[in-house]
Amino acid sequence: MRNYGHFIGGKHVAGTSGRTADVYQPLDGSVFGKVALASKAEVRAAVENAKAAQPAWAATNPQRRARVLMKFLELCARDNDKMAELLAREHGKTILDAKGDIQRGLEVVEFAIGAPQMMKGEYTEGAGPGIDIYSMRQPLGVCAGITPFNFPAMIPLWKAGPAIAAGNAFVLKPSDRDPGVPLMLAELFLEAGLPPGIFNVVNGDKEAVDAVLDDPDIKAVGFVGSTSIAEYVYARGCASGKRVQCFGGAKNHMIIMPDADMDQAVDALVGAGYGSAGERCMAISVAVPVTEEAANRLMEKLVPRVESLKIGPSTSLDADFGPLVTAQALERVKGYVDIGVKEGAKLVVDGRGFRMQGYENGYYMGGCLFDNVTKDMRIYKEEIFGPVLSVVRAKTYGEALDLANDHEYGNGVAIFTRDGDAARDFAAKVQVGMVGINVPIPVPLAYYTFGGWKRSAFGDLNQHGPDAFRFYTKTKTVTSRWPSGIKDGASFVIPTMG
Ligand code: NAD
Repeated sequence: MRNYGHFIGGKHVAGTSGRTADVYQPLDGSVFGKVALASKAEVRAAVENAKAAQPAWAATNPQRRARVLMKFLELCARDNDKMAELLAREHGKTILDAKGDIQRGLEVVEFAIGAPQMMKGEYTEGAGPGIDIYSMRQPLGVCAGITPFNFPAMIPLWKAGPAIAAGNAFVLKPSDRDPGVPLMLAELFLEAGLPPGIFNVVNGDKEAVDAVLDDPDIKAVGFVGSTSIAEYVYARGCASGKRVQCFGGAKNHMIIMPDADMDQAVDALVGAGYGSAGERCMAISVAVPVTEEAANRLMEKLVPRVESLKIGPSTSLDADFGPLVTAQALERVKGYVDIGVKEGAKLVVDGRGFRMQGYENGYYMGGCLFDNVTKDMRIYKEEIFGPVLSVVRAKTYGEALDLANDHEYGNGVAIFTRDGDAARDFAAKVQVGMVGINVPIPVPLAYYTFGGWKRSAFGDLNQHGPDAFRFYTKTKTVTSRWPSGIKDGASFVIPTMG
């Protein structure tokens, strides 16, 4: 049994609120440990620590800050197996997939090593007579991240990597379902030479989140999670005068044109639909074959592939996916399958009855596949976040495009086609933030930015890439003139450089 507390001021500290939550091991349903749930006072202690440590860190030159991140990358490589094993145990995804979770986070830390470049300002010599103008980027102070269960390494690093590289101190409030890896990241940051207090982890639930949102010393909050909470965090954080960016839920469509390579499309659909048990914000949850004929060809190949998906414990090296994260998540997802049946969709593969031999108490279900789903059904409109794929048949390309455009979510989308014109038109017109052309999960690399549209994101800047440095810094612009440049007397009109 593990006992997770918080990580404040460079040390593990036990929780003092008296409130805890169980952390489960989804592969067999056993309790793996307990995690402390912070009170407002515990959040405040972390913020005070961070606030005291931040000025010296900001005054450390950006190359030296970057070198700490370089060392951190080395240490994560050293401990990669240990971290992936812990991540898989607490989350339920397979160890190989857990390694991808860590890797995509570390790639943003690699990008953040470019902080000396990203922090550079602009300079105009001679903007007026004897007048120069320059701008600089300065850190905000203390920033916070509130992160979901489904990428316990990647998303904390997407937030903390750029924030820390820019000279901020960071308070992370990770998901209470898999707190082990965030605490391990805190230990590695410290070992890499990050001063105590610059990266803190406060475990908790709504009470800790509200304390973060209301704390006057936290200047920016980056959130990732479900849309209803994203909207709440955005409203409350903005109301207290912070910068807030919130990334929410998704319903990602994959459009399959009649000229697509059907084998490639089917490979893409099973991987992107069922990988990590569908618990990815960029999972494909809706397949839209265009024309009846293409739909029939697709289903002929897709059904046997879904029927033969390999489900296994997270430790299995050849499982396609593992258990869901909690017993409640399993019930919720199965509940959606029941709803789909009642709504009249055709359940062509039913994974609800799947039991994992030897792991009967684990949170497993098999892949489910619905055909003839229509846009008024709840299983189409709502995010299921499980191994359930819905097929919506479209008659024309225009109808398929409208489906993606009319959906309230706009995180990711893909089109499979050999027709460059169709792909180009789609990329230009689709109202979704991240688009794949024959790529099912178009998560942009670290040096581009990540963010959905519509109700998949609240705020105006994306995660990672150059936007992260804009989000975690403020711009100061200096207009300067030296005595030799002063030619005129007092001026009472707005200055122009004309
Ligand atoms: P969640 O919304 O339940 O939790 C996210 C965070 O909010 C956690 O830290 C949690 O402790 C906190 N929280 C939960 N309930 C709260 C409440 N009532 N008040 C204040 N804080 C609260 O999300 P989850 O189940 O951990 O993650 C899955 C969701 O995250 C899915 O909807 C998925 O699409 C989304 N997601 C989005 C992205 C993206 O970049 N758009 C990436 C990953 C996950």
